[in-house]
Amino acid sequence: MKRDQVFEFFRRLAEANPSPTTELESSNPYQLLVAVVLSAQATDASVNIACRPLFERIRKPAQMLDLGEERLREAIKAIGLFNTKAKNVIALSRALIDHHGGEVPRSREELQALPGVGRKTANVVLNTAFGEETFAVDTHVFRVCNRTGLAPGKTVDEVEAKLEKIVPQPFRRDAHHWLILHGRYTCKARLPECWRCPVIDLCRYKPKTLPPEERAKSNAARSGSRGSSAARTAKVRTASKPTAGRSRSRPTRLP
Ligand code: SF4
Repeated sequence: MKRDQVFEFFRRLAEANPSPTTELESSNPYQLLVAVVLSAQATDASVNIACRPLFERIRKPAQMLDLGEERLREAIKAIGLFNTKAKNVIALSRALIDHHGGEVPRSREELQALPGVGRKTANVVLNTAFGEETFAVDTHVFRVCNRTGLAPGKTVDEVEAKLEKIVPQPFRRDAHHWLILHGRYTCKARLPECWRCPVIDLCRYKPKTLPPEERAKSNAARSGSRGSSAARTAKVRTASKPTAGRSRSRPTRLP
């Protein structure tokens, strides 16, 4: 995609949603860090449901340690991989107390040194909690960047590096939220909703998905033509079926 098209791409996403943010609920950087760790291979909605009552009581790493791994596991058991995640959350809370005075560090290296924190989690925390211009590439961002031709890449690292390079100001800070939300609600994995997409003319994905009513019409036309061709085939079969007389006149076995 050319530079002016990239600008226009984000300008339109920004116009549609001027203040995008993460859908994970939290009230401080520590809760955000915990929520992002819990959200790996789980939906934000399921994390919010588990974390709402938890975060009413737990706002700091020390409170998480007081809660303990077993009760944490019980609180998050509806979330996938909860055993490993509970272990990581307890271990990272301990590390925050031991090495960072109970605060969430602001550097990528320190964040990624915490248990259960990878590059994507560090990017989300740096961006959402501390306002840094980072580009967290999750499954939605990866798909949108490749499908549209915005920042194609074979790996999440490649896509992130391209986004770093091409996203212009003033969109750098919120770019990853726009891309996630676009992928989650419009450019969906199984059926992108191209007919209501604000960047349809900039996107290189083909074929574009038609509006539901047009798809219904073309499905009906297709099944209609399948029906008539089935009827034609049946007629041909009936016409070519041997008559009783003819079949009787034919020897069924050699004499
Ligand atoms: S036009 Fe379709 S494929 Fe392209 S970004 Fe929009 S929804 Fe996705």
